[in-house]
Amino acid sequence: DIEKLSDLEKMGILGQGGGGTVYKVVHKKTATIYALKVLLLDRDYGSIRKQAAREAGILKRVDSEYIIRCHAILDDGFSDMAAKSGGKCLCFVMEYMEGGSLQEVLRARQRLPETEISGFARRVLEGLRYLHGMKIVHGDIKPSNLLVNDKGEVKIADFGVSRVAVGAGDCDSDIGTCAYMSPERFDPERWGGGDGAANGFAGDVWSLGVVVLECHVGHFPLIGVGRIPDWVTLMCAICFGEMPEMPETTSPEFRSFVLRCLERDWRKRGTVSELLGHPFCE
Ligand code: ATP
Ligand code: MG
Repeated sequence: DIEKLSDLEKMGILGQGGGGTVYKVVHKKTATIYALKVLLLDRDYGSIRKQAAREAGILKRVDSEYIIRCHAILDDGFSDMAAKSGGKCLCFVMEYMEGGSLQEVLRARQRLPETEISGFARRVLEGLRYLHGMKIVHGDIKPSNLLVNDKGEVKIADFGVSRVAVGAGDCDSDIGTCAYMSPERFDPERWGGGDGAANGFAGDVWSLGVVVLECHVGHFPLIGVGRIPDWVTLMCAICFGEMPEMPETTSPEFRSFVLRCLERDWRKRGTVSELLGHPFCE
């Protein structure tokens, strides 16, 4: 029943990313709170429109309790925003996640207990099973794209770089996104098996491995604390680095789970269904 942007009133900004701005809004008629993601399509560098349409297409198709729900897609221009940019924008009216992103949770709490990580991991894997079943590669699993609601449940968000699987994708230029990227995506020639053999599904599992390890150790785990990652450091850590050390108190189940996710050879890496049956997730 949300038909136009004037049905909504802005309450504040929830986040800002490469893709656009996310506002907290209220639906005037029902007083329901939503998150509104606004993608500006004014300066089109060629791919923004195409990617926005792809994100919209995916949001329309998915229907899962493990994925952020999109209640409406509006493209009639967000009055002032559109006016400022002198052009159009595409807006997604999404379910509001009270707890913010896992990135914010980690900023506040630094480390999470294994039981909590296990619950998160299970839900993300369920979400990936659903997406992969529809041939959708998320492609950008990282703390800022995993959102938490008031029940403490995690859901997958942000299909800004997602795609329907065809072959290996291009490496993103955003270093924040690259940090969670798999070796085969970083360096397809060496790790992908040539000809874009890696389909991208295994890359989502790698990213999940980095995320759960980060929740456990309290910082981005592939590079030492306090180092500002540059391209070369990051690439070396992902493609050739030693497996990061885990605290002695780490359970064997957690260790084994992380090792199955962070297997460099994507063909040997744990699959989503294998990991859903892993003792850490049970
Ligand atoms: P990036 O390029 O940084 O990945 P983006 O522009 O593609 O971001 P999103 O990842 O969808 O946009 O959202 C950016 C941020 O806004 C999230 O990290 C989160 O903090 C907040 N946010 C997004 N959607 C919601 C929501 N439904 N409920 C609450 N907060 C949200
Ligand atoms: Mg994001």
